[in-house]
Amino acid sequence: MIYAIISDIHSNLEALKRVLEEIDRFRVNKTICLGDIVGYGANPNECVDIIKERNVESIIGNHDIVACGKKEPYDFNPVARAAVLWTRKTLTSENREFLNNLPDMKLVDDFLIVHGAVSDPDLYIFSSYEARIEFKLMKKHNICFFGHTHVRTYYILINDDVRQFFDHEFKIEPKAKYLINPGSVGQPRDRDPRSSFLIYDTKEGYVKYIRLEYDISTAQKKIIDAGLDRRLADRLSLGM
Ligand code: ZN
Repeated sequence: MIYAIISDIHSNLEALKRVLEEIDRFRVNKTICLGDIVGYGANPNECVDIIKERNVESIIGNHDIVACGKKEPYDFNPVARAAVLWTRKTLTSENREFLNNLPDMKLVDDFLIVHGAVSDPDLYIFSSYEARIEFKLMKKHNICFFGHTHVRTYYILINDDVRQFFDHEFKIEPKAKYLINPGSVGQPRDRDPRSSFLIYDTKEGYVKYIRLEYDISTAQKKIIDAGLDRRLADRLSLGM
């Protein structure tokens, strides 16, 4: 099977369309989304519609949870809070319902998909120390894809040693365990403004990251026109 793994779209229609166009160039059998379809950007309904139409298998992210009304944004900063409440108001009831029904985490084939971490969908994995705690919970599974940090990276557990890598492609070693973050489609935060996702070929045991330029200025203009905080537009061209 060839999977495309995407995450953290954040209502960025321009980025999502560009990524899906690229995914169509590969012989992808299934596209998987690690959550945060909405929040921050100006096109929440359009992004949810595409996820539904294309049958992208998705889990729920922390922004999706608030946008559909399951939780209030108590732990969000003021800019993120204003954007997620705008998103809640803007989403159609069908799309709120769709988000509401997405699972927290899931087993696909023999790998796990989570938004933040295995222990807690809302937790950020930013270091090898944090990755080690999560690896301990992966008793039966060798591979877990996670998002939430918007930073493209992966961690390997081998012979009780945890290491972090940023390579653009790698082969899966059968004796190791992996925590793999595809980066963010709609709001990358690794100082590279290009959209990020990955292709996972299960037969070849191969992972390849892809970065793509997209129409950032249109996405920024829409954020400003929607009356959302200007900083949400600015950060897209900074990649942070
Ligand atoms: Zn996110």
